[in-house]
Amino acid sequence: MARIKRILVAGGAGFLGSHLCELLIDRGHDVVCVDNFFTSQKSNVEKLLSRPNFELIRHDVTIPISLEVDEIYNLACPAAPGHYQYNPLKTIKTSVLGAINLLELARECRAKILQASTSEVYGDPEVHPQREDYRGAVNPIGPRACYDEGKRAAETLFMDASRMYGTHIRIARIFNTYGPKTHPFDGRVVSNFIRQALADEPITIYGDGSQTRSFCYYSDLLEGLVRLMENEEGFVGPVNLGNPNEFTVKELGDLVWELLGKKPKYVFKELPVDDPCRRQPDISLAKEKLNWEPKVQLREGLARTIEWFKSINLDDFRAPTPNY
Ligand code: NAD
Ligand code: UDP
Repeated sequence: MARIKRILVAGGAGFLGSHLCELLIDRGHDVVCVDNFFTSQKSNVEKLLSRPNFELIRHDVTIPISLEVDEIYNLACPAAPGHYQYNPLKTIKTSVLGAINLLELARECRAKILQASTSEVYGDPEVHPQREDYRGAVNPIGPRACYDEGKRAAETLFMDASRMYGTHIRIARIFNTYGPKTHPFDGRVVSNFIRQALADEPITIYGDGSQTRSFCYYSDLLEGLVRLMENEEGFVGPVNLGNPNEFTVKELGDLVWELLGKKPKYVFKELPVDDPCRRQPDISLAKEKLNWEPKVQLREGLARTIEWFKSINLDDFRAPTPNY
């Protein structure tokens, strides 16, 4: 049997974090979830509270923390544009100070540490699909910069900790990921479209809907994250994790309507500033090093996500509020 580890999941009450906590608990590990609940709520981890190998700590990663752990997954950061732009100064502090504090903890404990980075480090890319050696085209002064530049700085901090202290780091560049337990009011495209179509409202398309994204189902993404953390080869440097199948936003809308068996209705709104035109991961590195590639394709993943949206009561979710 694999060794049981003490694992910290920062941002563990969020969409990806809560699924990751559950997966690690199910594999027998001792899991400590740290979260300030800025973009999540306790109900995401409620059913885990009765598990003996799970602990929940309300904590903000911009403040140092002392714990004894073997592995750290740093997922703590608002991820949806509406959430991270709500308080941009807090967002960049979360990425930068969160990385500094958790890297320090990793150094103290000699723990392995994984950073949940993002395809946003490529900005609005001129290179397509995006490979890890592409340095990106981020607008450093635009409304997305608090997130993009914060995540880029976090990658810098991780690489420097590896070079200076030999910290065992991992960096996952995560592309758009969706699935059950995404916050229904996060404003991201999948949650908006499903919520709107279920309510028989027109789907809001920003711009003309020709911009593309490549959507990864959460279970595939988590398998990639855990493989990256556990990879014994321990190669240093970022790895793209995402589903390379690329869709326009309009195609996504059409598919949501088709899966619901309803007649499509759209309303077109202004494209947000700096909205990337295209995004598609080159996952050759993950295939080669982690023997990983996504299995769940968009039609199936969307159908499962729609079922989850049908099962929830939207009144149980509060729109995220500032945490101070
Ligand atoms: P999410 O908003 O559901 O989860 C983020 C969690 O971090 C929330 O529980 C939030 O309360 C917590 N958090 C925020 N600021 C914090 C702070 N200062 N201290 C402690 N906790 C804090 O988002 P998600 O989609 O689950 O994303 C998880 C991670 O993956 C994020 O770091 C995000 O940048 C990264 N990521 C996600 C995607 C995606 O498509 N879902 C894509 C790229 C990268
Ligand atoms: N989008 C849209 N309608 C919505 C929400 C988003 O057309 O109701 C578009 C958005 O402009 C972007 C794409 O969908 O081009 C993905 O947006 P999301 O906020 O989900 O993620 P990100 O832009 O960070 O990839």
